[in-house]
Amino acid sequence: MANVQHLKQRVCQAIDRRASELIETADWIHAHPEIGHQEVEASRRLSGMLQAAGIPVEMGTAGMATAFKAELGGKRAGRPRVAILAEYDALPGLGHGCGHNLIGTSAVGAGLALSEVVPELDGSIWVLGTPAEESAAPNSGGKVHMVNAGVFSDVDAAIMFHPGTETAVTMDRSLAARGFEFYFRGRAAHAAGAPEEGINALDAVVLLYNAISMLRQQVRSDVRIHGIILSGGAAANIIPDYAAIRYRTRSDDSEYLAEVVERVIACAEGAARATGCTLEWKEYMPGYENTMPNRVLLELMTENLRSLGVMVNNERRRSGRGSRSPRAFHRVP
Ligand SMILES: [Zn+2]
Repeated sequence: MANVQHLKQRVCQAIDRRASELIETADWIHAHPEIGHQEVEASRRLSGMLQAAGIPVEMGTAGMATAFKAELGGKRAGRPRVAILAEYDALPGLGHGCGHNLIGTSAVGAGLALSEVVPELDGSIWVLGTPAEESAAPNSGGKVHMVNAGVFSDVDAAIMFHPGTETAVTMDRSLAARGFEFYFRGRAAHAAGAPEEGINALDAVVLLYNAISMLRQQVRSDVRIHGIILSGGAAANIIPDYAAIRYRTRSDDSEYLAEVVERVIACAEGAARATGCTLEWKEYMPGYENTMPNRVLLELMTENLRSLGVMVNNERRRSGRGSRSPRAFHRVP
């Protein structure tokens, strides 16, 4: 293999050469925010830059119109294969609140620069355009759809960054997350005139809410269960015949989360039984798996950032945690 230091220098020079074009693109996407699955212009611009550099790009990956896959082949166009993930969707009403314009453009910049040296490498690189990362969009979680379509089956590691207030390369896993809605149906009755004829769907929601509050003490400390009442009746003098509640559940570990989810559903079934309501429920969002950080890659990334003069603070501890649909560092077993 060619001298790695020399390859890195060439990649840095390629980035410097394209810097103004990349910054303009990031600024343009920021000024023209598009929400999940509607990132038509952003995906066209970003994939267009790769195509203009002669890189083959597939549009519509995993059946999503604004997704793309750019393949940078190495000598054997083979393995290991690293995917660089590009996000470019915005938040409804807010625009690019957390800077996905920077994620998308930097991923494409990395692909463009790496395309100049990749023929000299043994492995290969894909730049994946992954739509709808903000969970506010319907059918969000572009990477979940890509995982389900098998796109990541041919990838050994995936890499991306997210803008923040300081630079850190962290072993913290983002949490696996699943979301549920529970709908209880009972029977309406006048709350003063004939309460004994009612079946109170709000009671079922309240029972479920309290059962979940108790469940929280009996689960691992990495678990989060949080929800809102979607519907709790129409008038104080009518026993509600319909009530609904939405919960998000999260954990470090998607297998343990599956156990927690069973217990959450059992709480809902118990609440229905206790009140005489019927219960329907659905999973209202695609499930997110936890990320699987890879220490070797994280250390390499830290080293490379520091060699560029970037202050990296890996010591910070996060108090809050979120979920992310990609496996930021995904290793095929
Ligand atoms: Zn974000």
